[in-house]
Amino acid sequence: MSGVWFFLAGLFAGVGFLGGNWRLAFVPAAACIVLAVTERLAGRRPAPGRTKSGGSGTRKTTVIPQPAFQEPSTEERRQDTTRAFLKGDMALVGNEAQAREARKLALRELEDNIDGAIFDGLALLKQSIPGGHTYAVLFPGKNDGLYMRAWVTDSESLIAGATLNSNQGLVGQLNKDGVRRVLEGDIIADSTQLHYYSRHDNVRSLAGVPILVKGVRRGAVIVDSLKENAFDAHTVERLDALANLLGHLAYHAYMAFEHGYHKEQLAALTNYQRKFLENMSVENIVTHVQNYMAECLEGDRFLVVERTVRHGDDARIVSCIGADDKEMQGFEFRLSEKGLVALAFEKEQIINRAFPPTPHVPRFSPKEKAHGRMASLLAVPVPTDMGVDMALVVESVKPRRFSEHHQNMLSTIARAAGFALSRARLYQEKEQLASRDGLTGVENHRTFQERFLNEILRAQRYDHQLAVMMMDIDFFKKVNDSYGHPVGDQVLKEVAKIISQNIRGGIDLLARYGGEEFVVMLADTDRARAGETAERIRESIAAKVFESGTVRFQVTMSIGGAIYPTDSRHGHEILEKADKALYRAKETGRNRLVFYN
Ligand code: GH3
Ligand code: MG
Ligand code: MG
Repeated sequence: MSGVWFFLAGLFAGVGFLGGNWRLAFVPAAACIVLAVTERLAGRRPAPGRTKSGGSGTRKTTVIPQPAFQEPSTEERRQDTTRAFLKGDMALVGNEAQAREARKLALRELEDNIDGAIFDGLALLKQSIPGGHTYAVLFPGKNDGLYMRAWVTDSESLIAGATLNSNQGLVGQLNKDGVRRVLEGDIIADSTQLHYYSRHDNVRSLAGVPILVKGVRRGAVIVDSLKENAFDAHTVERLDALANLLGHLAYHAYMAFEHGYHKEQLAALTNYQRKFLENMSVENIVTHVQNYMAECLEGDRFLVVERTVRHGDDARIVSCIGADDKEMQGFEFRLSEKGLVALAFEKEQIINRAFPPTPHVPRFSPKEKAHGRMASLLAVPVPTDMGVDMALVVESVKPRRFSEHHQNMLSTIARAAGFALSRARLYQEKEQLASRDGLTGVENHRTFQERFLNEILRAQRYDHQLAVMMMDIDFFKKVNDSYGHPVGDQVLKEVAKIISQNIRGGIDLLARYGGEEFVVMLADTDRARAGETAERIRESIAAKVFESGTVRFQVTMSIGGAIYPTDSRHGHEILEKADKALYRAKETGRNRLVFYN
């Protein structure tokens, strides 16, 4: 089925919605989409708000269908969508009854995946554009109109699956050639004139953009609000980002479906995407990209190449699997040495070449080790918002190994990687600038370091003791894996809250030290009192019941403590010792407090 293409979703999503920065925002979106798709594949998620039961999953969303509205059956609509969405870009396949039945089943699965992606995209949109009343995605329906494919709304009068033609209301206009956006801030007309509400809902603002794929209108993404002038150009940017993402996702998914892609490929893609959406560092992205390449493409060597200085000439193979990987890994070269791969950076183009193994054509540099048998090379640039500073390369000993299909596949991966990279970098920068952690609101690592040094000086001056506690949630990865990243985030927030409730505001320090690791500094506190506080925190966390849908679960925390000046008189050593103690707490069974001494 739609392996490569689905992956796209994740990719695009990669530039998410975090904290109002549309680029960041896009990233979570992607992540969500990926998650949605993956989980959907596994058949675990409810469908988005599209069905009569208002299946908007677990979110607080009301969807009341209109009795007056004659909704086409889900099946009927689904049959429409693949054709309507592709608008003549494909030749349909399969005439026999059997093939039709198989196709129907596969299509259902595909549509579920797409719904999941859309729904999670909408949830992200809601996060990145707060204050909306209804957030919706429309897809092409019958007669060149649009139908509301999925929505998240606070309204009780939204018409489930409303259909709109080009002349109907502000939203209908998005289906007209030339219209790139709708942005209204002082709507006073009756909301029913928007054609997706059954009664006046006092909607005052509306923003919407068309979904454009390859220049063709294939739907729309909209948000409205009861407040006047609720939206601006940034809103439009975010809508565009989601429209772009969902448009490509659906386009490629439908297209891949029509071309009968393999289910395994799709599964690998979605799996990979899911990983991608985690809060990943640049290193993690490289690892995942590479694993994914190796999983999805047949080749004899897979490489990730990075420009080491932004816009510079120096490059390096950051990762290599396959033939001669020991020699290739870490190999440094200059783009000006005019190896084939340099073209991917300079021309920002896909390079797909086949050649006889000898004489050796330099891939990276004339100084590289010649393999002697590689006969095909495919290199694609990884586009990030900083330009191209990474490329993905696959080589094969088979001549003319790589087709357009492989090109598309690798580009899709590259695109996803690019989004994730952009996100990771922005995130890093933002974190570095900010004093507080964006997710939990507690101080971040950097601020902690600064304030902690002051606290040590103060303790020296007044001859006080001081305790440092490193805290790490146990098996947190499992929480993400079992309930999804957003639930993991929720747990992190709660844990931060519990810790802060147990320490003295304005006196003690709490910071998010890393992913699921927190550090607490207790001023003027000896070991006995630090132990009491830490135990209280540990017990409160263990007692807290979290919920994910209908599932209830608990987490535990391991804590390592060190005391100034008993364990050391130096700030950095105190931190190290607390960390060592934490390690011991993990080693000796978790859910416990261990002091360095
Ligand atoms: P251990 O008991 O040994 O600490 O196991 P663990 O699974 O908690 O440890 P590990 O360090 O392997 O995994 C930490 C996980 O935390 C991996 C990462 O996906 C997750 N994580 C890090 N930051 C975030 C975040 O901001 N949100 C969410 N949801 N997960 C995060
Ligand atoms: Mg942990
Ligand atoms: Mg950890």
